[in-house]
Amino acid sequence: MEKKRVYIFGKKIADGKADMKNLLGGKGANLAEMCLLGLPVPAGFTVTTEVCTEYYANNCQLPAELMPEVWAAMTKVEEMMGMKYGDPDNPLLVSCRSGARSSMPGMMDTVLNVGLCTTTIPGLIKKTNNPRFVWDSYRRLVMMYADVVMEKAEGLEPAEGKGIRKILDEKLDEFKKSKGYKEDTQISADELKTLAEDFKSIVKKALGTEFPDDARAQVEGGIKAVFKSWNGKKAISYRKIEGIPEEWGTAVNVQAMVFGNMGDSSATGVAFTRNPATGENLFYGEWLVNAQGEDVVAGIRTPSPLNDDTKNEQNKHLASMQEAMPQTYKELDAIRTILDNHYKDMLDIEFTIQEKVLYMLQCRVGKRTGTAAVQIAMDYLKEGKIDEKTAVMRVEASQLDEVLHPICNPNEEKKHNVLVKGLPAGPGSAVGKLVFTAEDAVAAVRKDAKAQVILLREETNPEDVEGMSAAVGILTARGGMTSHAALVARGWGKCCIVGAGKLHINNDTKTAKIEGTDIVLKEGDVVTLNGTKGHVYAGAIPLMDASDNPSFQEYMKIVDKFRTMGVRTNAETAEDAQRARNFGAEGIGLFRTEHMFYGKGSEQPLFLLRKMILSNTTAERVTALNELYPYVKKDIKETLLVMDTLPVTFRLLDPPLHEFVPQSLEKQAEVAKALGISAEAVAKRGEALHESNPMMGHRGVRLGITYPEITEIQIRAIFEATAELLQEGKKPYPELMVPVTSDVSELDVTKVIFDKVAAEVAKKFGVASIDCKYGTMIEIPRACLLANKMAKTAEFFSFGTNDLTQMSFGFSRDDIGGFLNEYLDKKMLAADPFQTIDQEGVGQLIEMAVTRGRATRNNLKVGICGEQGGDPASVEFCFKLGLNYVSCSPFRVPIARLAAAQSAIKAGK
Ligand code: PEP
Ligand code: MG
Repeated sequence: MEKKRVYIFGKKIADGKADMKNLLGGKGANLAEMCLLGLPVPAGFTVTTEVCTEYYANNCQLPAELMPEVWAAMTKVEEMMGMKYGDPDNPLLVSCRSGARSSMPGMMDTVLNVGLCTTTIPGLIKKTNNPRFVWDSYRRLVMMYADVVMEKAEGLEPAEGKGIRKILDEKLDEFKKSKGYKEDTQISADELKTLAEDFKSIVKKALGTEFPDDARAQVEGGIKAVFKSWNGKKAISYRKIEGIPEEWGTAVNVQAMVFGNMGDSSATGVAFTRNPATGENLFYGEWLVNAQGEDVVAGIRTPSPLNDDTKNEQNKHLASMQEAMPQTYKELDAIRTILDNHYKDMLDIEFTIQEKVLYMLQCRVGKRTGTAAVQIAMDYLKEGKIDEKTAVMRVEASQLDEVLHPICNPNEEKKHNVLVKGLPAGPGSAVGKLVFTAEDAVAAVRKDAKAQVILLREETNPEDVEGMSAAVGILTARGGMTSHAALVARGWGKCCIVGAGKLHINNDTKTAKIEGTDIVLKEGDVVTLNGTKGHVYAGAIPLMDASDNPSFQEYMKIVDKFRTMGVRTNAETAEDAQRARNFGAEGIGLFRTEHMFYGKGSEQPLFLLRKMILSNTTAERVTALNELYPYVKKDIKETLLVMDTLPVTFRLLDPPLHEFVPQSLEKQAEVAKALGISAEAVAKRGEALHESNPMMGHRGVRLGITYPEITEIQIRAIFEATAELLQEGKKPYPELMVPVTSDVSELDVTKVIFDKVAAEVAKKFGVASIDCKYGTMIEIPRACLLANKMAKTAEFFSFGTNDLTQMSFGFSRDDIGGFLNEYLDKKMLAADPFQTIDQEGVGQLIEMAVTRGRATRNNLKVGICGEQGGDPASVEFCFKLGLNYVSCSPFRVPIARLAAAQSAIKAGK
């Protein structure tokens, strides 16, 4: 059969349905589904995503077969709508909208009111008896068509601020100013007519082509422009951030226009079937009387609340739809129920009311915060609409990050005055320095990956996505809860406040004045955003974590029912260990001994360690180590106690020793005095430890090979701490892990010390033996290749994928920032291999090591403790390879638990 390129929908019939998203895009598939549900959807047709692929394969030409199919479909739409496209008396107008498989809010282009031209305008005026509406629609068409079809799709790239849309917008503003009008609605029909004519001459002058006065040419131009917008700059940026493949393409939906701008009995709106910020089962949305859809999302007018539940400080004075159009609101609410029961998920819907008649223009699964995702999954589960497995699959693992998102410490927040208020668009709180452009946000983070910036914009537009992604928080002066900024930020779980109307931004001076005050915010000023309340504060308010959420706790219990792989944490302090345990960690997979020499309380142990490092003889070294011993034991004992009944993997000292040599003269003098040598001698010994390639130098197990006494005190501390805890009736489960090994002989040499100390401590405490597993990190490629031998001595392996990635790629883990972006931009790497396991390369080594290791020792316990252990895709990979556990930082423990459960469900376990 000839390939079908066009799918029709309308009046309770449709060629497609909801599960055909790959072919029809999300919008097209759901429009079809709503028709099948009997909902009022204006008729139309969808040009498939395959045509988009054909279009690009064919050098940006539509396939020859397409337009005849389009016109045949248009005839059917005309029949369903009782109007004719291009007809002088009863003209049908259409919209051309994009619709990819997965939603890309505002990233592609749309043209509305297609079909208005010299032949159809008089007929429409006569039919509607509303010249103002017709001329308003026409001037919108000229603006959009010139921008989308004649400029962007033609690949014209005007200088910043010189685009046709901007020029026409300025013309409109100028006109309103000259007349003293505040709102577009004050412009009369005649004035709009003159404006449209002026617009056309401006377009001709700026772009060199005439605005097409032919209805059929307009449709073809619209379809092509939507396809072209798939490769527009903002769409490409968004795809990159969201990981949407380039080859998917977009569909085009050509749909009969219905008008929300036909006067005060017409309106348009956007709503969510449940609250997308909190997940509450309340209808939530915004609407605008006498407006077209773009007005709501573009943030031009402050939208009114849909109902009482949507009222807030900023919009409570505006009439809700529930109050102004109670009958139509009831109909909409009934549709909400139908959709909720049918899709069994929270949807985001768009509707238009044309002279009191309600039409549905879109529905799709709505973006939500992590908190809302958990709440919504739990609610549908309790309502009996979905089962536990579905509930577990409903929340994206990475979204849990937002549930644990830091919030302002309420006691501290009380002490601060609110600087300015806006709408609470994205969850949690953020503290950062103000930047005024997306480029500045990106630049700040490129310069310093830890930079915390708040992006302040008049209204964010889709061109800002990269900057929005780089910032810790987003603040805008304009826009509503369903503006692009709010949708995008919420989708990412990023703290965001929109519509803080009292901010008057001057982009030239990079300042923002706060109305009614003398306060002027400048670039670099530190502010705190509370995205849950919509409050902005000057300065930094301390943040705290928000994990005491009962729905979250309940949800995680269900998650664990499906999880088969263990989840541990990487923690070095009792505090971190406790937090991780509260988040559900089932032990510690990596305790980096060296951390006791950094941070709080590290002064004395660090001093003693330095003394040890700078010792000249074994005797000096042993003395220093004996002094250090109580600190090491105390640290180990505290951690074992917090993790009582759960395993704790202690890793022997790993970093090259020169990292600990004092740099300042003052500290050098202090150590010199303690050792009874000169400061120069200290400096000299420090220099002697210098290595040209320390990451591959004297570190890890190699330290213990040279200085067995260093290994010995660590092992003794573990055994003695364990023995003491056993005497106290506790249940400690220590494990000793040897780092940076490449040969089993290293494990064997160290094992001799391990066994000797084990026997000595057992004797000292009068017990037969003390249990402690003996294993190794696998972080050098050679260890993977020889895993069968390593497993002869090692009872467990833990993949150190930070070093393993470094040594497999030959990419320095500390310097990759200098060139990673090039690799990602040029698509030479799919992702940063230090964040998500490179399954193709490093993954092979891991797989080989698991197989070879278990061939030697079939009960070999295998885990991962590199950074990737908390990354959902890497967790799934570990699951597939049959690892016993993953270990990650405390805040990522819930993410790893969910990712592990989802992996098990996907595998049908
Ligand atoms: C690793 O290399 O993956 C690892 C966990 O160890 P570190 O990051 O301490 O080198
Ligand atoms: Mg390592």
